[in-house]
Amino acid sequence: MRSDLHMMTPQIPVDEARRLAALHATSLFGTGPEEAFDRITRMASKLLHVPTALISLVGADTQWFKSRCGFDPQYGPRDTSFCGHAILSDEPMVVEDASKDPRFADNPSVLGTPHVRFYAGMQLYSVDRAKLGTLCIIDSEPRALGEEELAELHDLARMVEELIHHRQLAIAAQQLHDGLQQNASRAQLAASAGQVEFLLNHDTLTGLANRQALLGTIRDRITDWQQRQVPAAVACLNVDRFKRVNDAFGHAAGDEVLVAVTRCLQAELGADDLLARTGSDEFVLLLSPPADEAALQARLVRLLDSVNSSVSWAGKDISITCSIGVARFPQDGEDADTLLSNANTAMRHAKETGGARTQYFAPSQRRELVRRMALEHQLHRAIEREELFLQYQPKIDLQGGTLAGFEALLRWRHPVHGVVSPEEFVPIAEETGLIVPIGDWLVRTAIRQMAGWHAAGLPEVPVAVNLSARQFLQGDVVGLVGEMLAETQVAPHLLELELTESLSMADPERSLAIMRELRELGVTLSIDDFGTGYSSFAYLKRLPIDKLKIDKSFVNDMVHSSDARAIVQAIVAMAHSMHLHVVAEGVESAPQALALRETGCDQAQGYYYSRPLDAGEAGSFLAPAPAAKVGIARG
Ligand code: C2E
Ligand code: CA
Ligand code: CA
Repeated sequence: MRSDLHMMTPQIPVDEARRLAALHATSLFGTGPEEAFDRITRMASKLLHVPTALISLVGADTQWFKSRCGFDPQYGPRDTSFCGHAILSDEPMVVEDASKDPRFADNPSVLGTPHVRFYAGMQLYSVDRAKLGTLCIIDSEPRALGEEELAELHDLARMVEELIHHRQLAIAAQQLHDGLQQNASRAQLAASAGQVEFLLNHDTLTGLANRQALLGTIRDRITDWQQRQVPAAVACLNVDRFKRVNDAFGHAAGDEVLVAVTRCLQAELGADDLLARTGSDEFVLLLSPPADEAALQARLVRLLDSVNSSVSWAGKDISITCSIGVARFPQDGEDADTLLSNANTAMRHAKETGGARTQYFAPSQRRELVRRMALEHQLHRAIEREELFLQYQPKIDLQGGTLAGFEALLRWRHPVHGVVSPEEFVPIAEETGLIVPIGDWLVRTAIRQMAGWHAAGLPEVPVAVNLSARQFLQGDVVGLVGEMLAETQVAPHLLELELTESLSMADPERSLAIMRELRELGVTLSIDDFGTGYSSFAYLKRLPIDKLKIDKSFVNDMVHSSDARAIVQAIVAMAHSMHLHVVAEGVESAPQALALRETGCDQAQGYYYSRPLDAGEAGSFLAPAPAAKVGIARG
């Protein structure tokens, strides 16, 4: 239809007055080319393989090209501009073929020179988040823009914004300087100083107050809280696993998440609250004094609910959760530094205990944090100082009462604290990435131990090794295991790898592929802690596994709870129907062992049979006579 094809002039944004004021404040409109900007458009043209790249500032009636690569005119009318359309939305505007887009098909720059067919415009924002215009690329051929190219355009646009911001700051500082030299009026000086302060105190990405501004405000607020003798709260908010968002979806998506979090929080803020961005994914909230504890709690719940949302970026939904740490004035600190530091400690605690929650500060968290930081530091050298070692806990065949194998368990003999539990240091190793070299070490050590026992003439039994999610997904487990099996000639099926359910949830496709490769090596795979995670049997069916380990919490409850007993019975039956072997862990008493045997469970492991043993003790356990004795005595 003809009417569909009629060129559309861009609408005027609702915040046009504010937008034009922000554009005016940049002192860029109508100014000539500058090398720093031209460098960016040249890069855009080269990197994205387009003849034309522009920095277009959208004024009241015209668009002004601050930088032009491959394009002559210095300005053009707004009502036939592409950029006028682009600034109406927050999403980048990509027009793959303008001749097929009703907004542009009969646009003079499509029909005539420069014969635009392809256009992609990334919005440029002022410090206070008004849209100034775009960094755009143009081609006279239709084309598409891939996800990665879009991310590159985004990064370049951020460079333009930073340049605008710095230039603006320099101009304001110069004006202030000149004003002081020339004895300008107080009002003029105040205006220039205000402009400098604003630019210094705002974060360019979100337009929020930055750390510097926060510290000033928090000090003023504390004085006020003290005078009025009101309780108040400082909250630190952090995006959970933000690094993973950046790694998986790119920095452009990461930025989008931060802007989305900002918007969510802003919607919940009152006039007296302050929101600041203090680091990459760190936000701080100064909450106006609540009426009482319940009111504070209710506000925190609303804030957390509002940010636990999902952001769409380049056709993908990224779900985000945040952790909040809260320090209360005056009991958790009476000055800005203490309050901020304690809120931050509480936030770290919230993250370490799973995230997506709110945590009030408690002094014990500080001690924990100090210990944790010390351990983290010392863990770096634990391998080379040979402080790590493995213990081996026997697994018993429930029906025959004989030794069925061992589980290797990691230990750290700390020079000061003695033996530190893996439950404490494995999460630290995971978070810092140290789990990859540590995991390598433990896989090598366990397999060499198996070979050692064999060489000493002891019977060959399966040994299970725990693999953490990060080691599994980031390390080269397949290469490592393959290499070690070849080197030691250990029979592959004797090596069992215990994986957790959460591991396969983190990146299902990739973990499935790795599991298949391990299976091809002939290694046995088992799912650890079954029943504590999310996975269902329907899900397990898709995984190439051999074994299931029922979590010790079920075993613990079995004797007193008929429910737990029924659950274990059902798990065993379902597992058997899928040809999976079932191991129960954490068996501590004879009644538990008996109850398990009645369910048909295949193997059991626990203090009832044996504590984890040092390698030497485990070796003697393997020697035929004693092993049989223990097995029979307690089967
Ligand atoms: P897990 O894999 O579930 O290991 C079983 C844990 O239960 C071990 O604790 C073991 O000592 C303990 N246990 C054994 N029998 C009993 C019992 O009868 N009663 C009770 N209450 N507990 C029993 P441990 O060695 O402290 O390990 C704790 C967790 O640390 C392990 O849980 C595993 O998640 C992790 N971990 C241990 N070694 C490694 C390792 O080599 N690599 C990785 N990635 N994680 C490891
Ligand atoms: Ca395990
Ligand atoms: Ca377990």
